[in-house]
Amino acid sequence: MNPYLDEDLVALGEHTRCFAQGRVAPGFEARDTTRTLDRELMLEMGQMGFIAPELPEAYGEQGLGCLAAGVIHEEIAWADLSLSYINLLASLNGQILAQHAVPAIARPWLERLTQGRALLAIALTEPRGGSDAANLRLRMERVGDQYVLNGEKTSISAADQADAAVVFARTGSVEDGARGVSAILVPMALPGITRNRFNCHGQCAIGRGSIFFENVRVPADHRLGDEGKGFVQVMQGFDFSRVLIGLQVLAVAKASLEETWAYVAEREAFGKPLSAFQGVSHPLAEYETQVEAARLLCLQTLWLKDRGLPHTAETAMCKWWGPKLAYDVVHQCLLSFGRGGYDRGPLEQRLRDVLGFQIGDGTAQIMKTIIARTNAGRDAVPA
Ligand SMILES: Cc1cc2nc3c(=O)[nH]c(=O)nc-3n(C[C@H](O)[C@H](O)[C@H](O)COP(=O)(O)OP(=O)(O)OC[C@H]3O[C@@H](n4cnc5c(N)ncnc54)[C@H](O)[C@@H]3O)c2cc1C
Repeated sequence: MNPYLDEDLVALGEHTRCFAQGRVAPGFEARDTTRTLDRELMLEMGQMGFIAPELPEAYGEQGLGCLAAGVIHEEIAWADLSLSYINLLASLNGQILAQHAVPAIARPWLERLTQGRALLAIALTEPRGGSDAANLRLRMERVGDQYVLNGEKTSISAADQADAAVVFARTGSVEDGARGVSAILVPMALPGITRNRFNCHGQCAIGRGSIFFENVRVPADHRLGDEGKGFVQVMQGFDFSRVLIGLQVLAVAKASLEETWAYVAEREAFGKPLSAFQGVSHPLAEYETQVEAARLLCLQTLWLKDRGLPHTAETAMCKWWGPKLAYDVVHQCLLSFGRGGYDRGPLEQRLRDVLGFQIGDGTAQIMKTIIARTNAGRDAVPA
């Protein structure tokens, strides 16, 4: 029981868990090896209404609210963090399209997104750096009724699997900083686009890679938000994805704790169950406490978002604390399994998977800067 989830949300969680355990969990390790998302499964998730259920009814979507999205994210991530990127990318990009695309572009893409027929990437990071995100260089120049894009995005999740990407690019001069950045939806089938894939440590089913743009012509009506204001307007979407990431990684931590409690209660050493030794059970008890607290913070943040209340600092808290805590928890669980935990299997895969989120979508240092700015004021905390 917790105050943020009413009966309907609890039922939605149970319904999603049934699907996730039956359909998602069985392929968890195989997808890590084959390094591909299962597009059939994505279609099924769309048919079940599990992809971006918060998107507005005005676009013919479910309008269930952000807490509903969070509940679904947890259950899918419990079964496979990498696969739950389908949910994450759809919720982040769906919100951006719903708020900033013209209806003629938003409507068909949102339909494809929620039905599981399209995967959208978010392309912000460039080779010169990700933390100083506003200082980007990819060019986007207006020529008639088109924009022409030139440059490179790198470390983009689903780079080689996405059907389109929300791309941040420079329409103004470098001196303009964030004010010279615009955002645009770019279908990946356009001429002039090439992509590659990295050999990633974890999150292998979704993967990461670079996207190269060489004179890529995109219709001007694909721009998201106003020209030169894309960074400020569209970046607000990250306030949503960062809390969803918190819930995703904490679900992985909870799954690992659950399995570890069962294991240490069963396995014996020195004539007793491992759980009888406080050196084994107390670290797990401490992590159980912290995971519960961090999860409540994430749910509270979505509750604030659903009510239109400020939640930027809370989101940053979820994003730095959740991935660090989840990594520490899975690490402790792996150690509790002894040598077996180090073999290829769920725990070592989860450790690799959650680590990525200590970097992706903004590092802990950047999140703490956001929290400091919210409390001390922007001028008191320069970058
Ligand atoms: C799993 C994963 C998925 C990703 N997915 C995407 C994606 O889909 N789309 C996308 O655009 N990008 C994505 N990224 C890129 C990610 O957002 C960047 O890697 C991240 O923002 C950090 O940028 P950087 O790697 O260039 O590190 P840098 O910016 O070079 O920073 C290096 C180190 O210095 C620290 N640092 C930098 N500036 C400061 C400062 N002012 N104060 C204190 N410390 C500082 C950082 O915290 C970091 O530890 C992904 C990365 C990973 C690992």
